[in-house]
Amino acid sequence: MKAIAVHPGTPGSIHLREIPRPSLTDIPEGRGVRVKVLRVGVDGTDKEINAAEYGAAPPGDDFLVTGHESFGQVLEVGPNVPSTIRPGTYVVASVRRPGSTIYGKIGLQDFTTDDVYYERGINLLHGFLTEEYVEDAQYVFPLPDSLREVGVLLEPTTVAEKGINHAYEIQRRLKVWEPMRACILGSGTIGLLAALVARSRGLEVTVFSLPERPYKNADLVEQLGGVYISSQGASLAEVGAERGPFDLMFDATGFSPLVWEAAEVLGKNGVLVLASITGGDRKVEINSDAINQSFVLGNKVMVGTVNASPNDFRSGVNSLIKAEALFPGWLSHLLTTPVAGLENYEEMIRQLTENSDAIKVYVEVAGNGAGA
Ligand code: BGC
Ligand code: ZN
Repeated sequence: MKAIAVHPGTPGSIHLREIPRPSLTDIPEGRGVRVKVLRVGVDGTDKEINAAEYGAAPPGDDFLVTGHESFGQVLEVGPNVPSTIRPGTYVVASVRRPGSTIYGKIGLQDFTTDDVYYERGINLLHGFLTEEYVEDAQYVFPLPDSLREVGVLLEPTTVAEKGINHAYEIQRRLKVWEPMRACILGSGTIGLLAALVARSRGLEVTVFSLPERPYKNADLVEQLGGVYISSQGASLAEVGAERGPFDLMFDATGFSPLVWEAAEVLGKNGVLVLASITGGDRKVEINSDAINQSFVLGNKVMVGTVNASPNDFRSGVNSLIKAEALFPGWLSHLLTTPVAGLENYEEMIRQLTENSDAIKVYVEVAGNGAGA
């Protein structure tokens, strides 16, 4: 069967190749799920993998099948797969797999302290940009048919989901935490999904990001009842003075200097969640005394988050269901840029690197099963 792959370490090596079709029995103890891939979303990580800045091949292979944002339909299940997953069920597979530490054993592989981590389509495990995959049922999450159109957004949603879930989890230390105001930094896919998750939890949302209007993503923020502010018209300090104090801040800009400005704007007892992977070596001058003092006197928290645990996928499904109920049709507006078929991998990379209007680029591997 066909797959999109790279040779990790070789820039621009993306190509189409033939790989063997997987079999249910590749997974032990009758827990295998064989899935027909319908759609796969791509993001900055895929771009970096093709640029050889990130990613590694599975041991014994000199290629990595890419793609970690999957959406598919079950073809076949082993005898010990729970009845929530049956042939025909729409599913998304999670990305990270357990390593050697205790965290993987308790379903928190995202918290591994190993230096080596295993992520399908990213590091040491093949991904989903292919026709079929098999996976252990414990890493496969069922979605209701009503999410058929937008289910490919589950994996990126879990980035926001985990970050915000953990902010609430951390704040259980306060016995009562009733956050009111959220500020999301960045308005790409993750920023928009973080705005959605925060709005779905009833928070007032301000999104601060570089582009100026007219800007589709700013309109999408407003459709959620949020406020969009371009960093070309106001500083984050000004935004904080007008729209803060912020109880919850979430950075998805990829621009690390902004994090230190956010630390200054964060409200007392606030949580600042960092979700940008910044591979560079940028250095900036910061107001270190002021930041330190406000964190001490204001009991503030800054926390990093990497994706994701099975629980985040389960609660992410609920967030998507809730989002469709609260903001009908909103999620589908993120699916701006379909690419037809695995053969069009060059087009996929081109859209990913050159189309700055794209919110989500995704490959229609086999159509979405609608009416099938
Ligand atoms: C993926 C996450 C992953 C992270 C780090 C992101 O693009 O969506 O699942 O944990 O990259 O590799
Ligand atoms: Zn990703």
